[in-house]
Amino acid sequence: MVPTPSDILGVVMSQKSDVAALFDKLRAGSRDGDGVTRDTYGPGEEFAHRLIAAHAENMGLETRRDHAANLFMTLPGADRNAPCLMTGSHLDSVANGGNFDGAAGVIAGLVAIGSLQRLGLRPRCDVTAAAIRAEESVWFEVSYIGSRSAFGVLPAGALEAKRVDTGRTLAEHMAECGAAIDDVRAGKASLEAGSIKAWVELHIEQAPQLVAASLPVAVGTGVPGNFRYPQVKIVGEYAHVGLPRRFRRDAVLAASEFAVGLDEIWKKSDASARPMAFTIGRFHTDPKEHALTKVAGALTLSLDVRAYDKVHLAELESAVLELARDVGQRRGVKFHLGARTSADVAPSHPDVFAKLIDSAKMLGIPAMPLASPASHDTATFTVAGVPSAMLFVRNANGSHNPREAMEIDDFLQAAAVLTYWLAAEATSTAT
Ligand SMILES: [Zn+2]
Repeated sequence: MVPTPSDILGVVMSQKSDVAALFDKLRAGSRDGDGVTRDTYGPGEEFAHRLIAAHAENMGLETRRDHAANLFMTLPGADRNAPCLMTGSHLDSVANGGNFDGAAGVIAGLVAIGSLQRLGLRPRCDVTAAAIRAEESVWFEVSYIGSRSAFGVLPAGALEAKRVDTGRTLAEHMAECGAAIDDVRAGKASLEAGSIKAWVELHIEQAPQLVAASLPVAVGTGVPGNFRYPQVKIVGEYAHVGLPRRFRRDAVLAASEFAVGLDEIWKKSDASARPMAFTIGRFHTDPKEHALTKVAGALTLSLDVRAYDKVHLAELESAVLELARDVGQRRGVKFHLGARTSADVAPSHPDVFAKLIDSAKMLGIPAMPLASPASHDTATFTVAGVPSAMLFVRNANGSHNPREAMEIDDFLQAAAVLTYWLAAEATSTAT
């Protein structure tokens, strides 16, 4: 029997004070100034994993950690061999970030499973909430470390990436959290597309589109793909402040022209209704060399470019490379692009997307389709071949900062959509 919409709303909303208390515990244990720091494969993330695992064990769920220390919390189904339903998100955060980015999706999974338990629903297949490791790529500048390790597709060399603050390798940090490095290196998989019927990730919205639309919930249309150059170095020539303009090979002016040129590309893309985004997160001269009275001979910057369409992304990369060549020639500088990383475009599965829209409709919760520009582990699931989609929760003030402002009532509405979808799928006889 599928529970009625009002049963589901009632049981989800009844967990409001427990949910608020769990978010508070998470914040209290990872507080850092105004915000929280749950550092990837560090003490902050580890604390969150232990807290959530203990909570799941209290609920009577089966918990397991895989070779990359990802956490899976399962309500067993009648047929343990049937492909499972999976939901979840990540527990790490950026430094001095907000309490909800990532954690909301893990806690929503526990709320949904707790609701199925309270409704006495015995699922036909396992229902699993996942707490994925290392989604925030600020720490190691590698995307989707936890989810890619779970599917055995972490790129070669990633284990040797150094954490930006400690200077120690991913392998060392993972080992400290109990990961089996040899298995990660060998590309062992703890998840296989064939054994997951569908994946849904709930996440706070990181832009103000739901706030602007006065809606609590959105269903994601897809996760953008990206290409990244974390260490672009522009090399000109250091010179005396008195050097006339025509002799200068100024790295700061070249980098500025490059940045403005990228913005022109973005404007054109917007004008032709092809969504994209580019970000230069770091932009700096060398503090050992730079000075008030010196023409800067070198500048380092990071570049992230993202879009929703594979062809568009490839066109953007050609345009970026051409721009670098042009600016280099005009300014007499050299662009050393350095290492490149990328992630494929991951559109939502039409069937999962439609079922989430239907679930919201059945519950009377207003929801809209939304293209979120952020990266999410859902992309790894999609690329691996798991039917996937995302739910977004209204959130003022963006994310990756202490001012994230998700309302628990909005969160519970999104969790109710997730619960309805899980209940319908877990009782469905369709395979
Ligand atoms: Zn996130």
